[in-house]
Amino acid sequence: MSGNDGRIAVVTGGNRGIGFEVCRGLALGGARVILAARDDARGEAAAEKLRAQGLAVNFQPLDVADARSVARFAQWAAGGAGRVDILVNNAGVALDGFDSEVVRNTMAVNLFGAMQTTDRLLPLMGKGGRIVMVSSGLGELGCLGPRQRPSFAASDLTRAALTGLVEQFADDVAGGRHAANGWPSNAYRVSKAGLNAFTRIVAAQLRAGEILVNAVCPGWVRTGMGGRSAERGPQKGAETILWAATLPPGGPSGKFFRDRREISW
Ligand code: NAP
Repeated sequence: MSGNDGRIAVVTGGNRGIGFEVCRGLALGGARVILAARDDARGEAAAEKLRAQGLAVNFQPLDVADARSVARFAQWAAGGAGRVDILVNNAGVALDGFDSEVVRNTMAVNLFGAMQTTDRLLPLMGKGGRIVMVSSGLGELGCLGPRQRPSFAASDLTRAALTGLVEQFADDVAGGRHAANGWPSNAYRVSKAGLNAFTRIVAAQLRAGEILVNAVCPGWVRTGMGGRSAERGPQKGAETILWAATLPPGGPSGKFFRDRREISW
């Protein structure tokens, strides 16, 4: 049985796709993995599959878009080992269609889900903690028009201002003004641009400590989201996430990586 190096890792959306491979990789590396998933049956089945391979993986319910579920999860984590060493914010959606409802539902998981999970688990993280935001190159700043780009890129962007920006996006979409106001017609892209901005905000906030926070683009991966034509298997997609989740002390923070190489925001 692995899971004996003392580290406790939480992976959101761990029941399938990239998240499942991240759970496997972290457990193979010796961590005790909490496979968090929003559906009990799917989560338990996925954890059981990894346990059958001799890995130390347990399921715990977590719907990242539901504040009460996140609070319950954090309470459970605090009451168990009382510590989280690695958090991989992997849960994500790429919804069909494009309207203000799609924007809000996408943000609820891809941006606010990662935000509230991080906020709740950060107090349980000590020196040596690692946070990985599973992002996408589709969220690079270039996806935004010149009107929005500087706001997202601003080094003094606060989380309140970031929240205001994505709320403005939803309002602009509802009012049919989003293109004129410099937004793409794509909720997923803006959600990942927001997640990248959040990564920079948290990393700056933790600069003095020893918790490293980075965003990773896994590439185009064959999963439910990536589809069958994608060039990479889930294991390859998990590689750089695993690397960022286990960076040695003094490693980078507040950066964006693909294939272990820094890429621009
Ligand atoms: P996937 O196979 O569709 O898996 C998505 C995972 O997120 C599933 O476990 C899903 O749970 C979970 N999830 C969705 N909403 C959730 C919620 N509210 N609470 C908790 N879990 C939730 O996609 P994937 O390709 O593995 O994607 C993983 C991450 O990689 C995402 O953040 C995605 O944006 C990112 N990414 C993927 C690609 C790619 O090509 N595949 C490229 C760039 C970035 P259910 O099973 O319950 O639906």
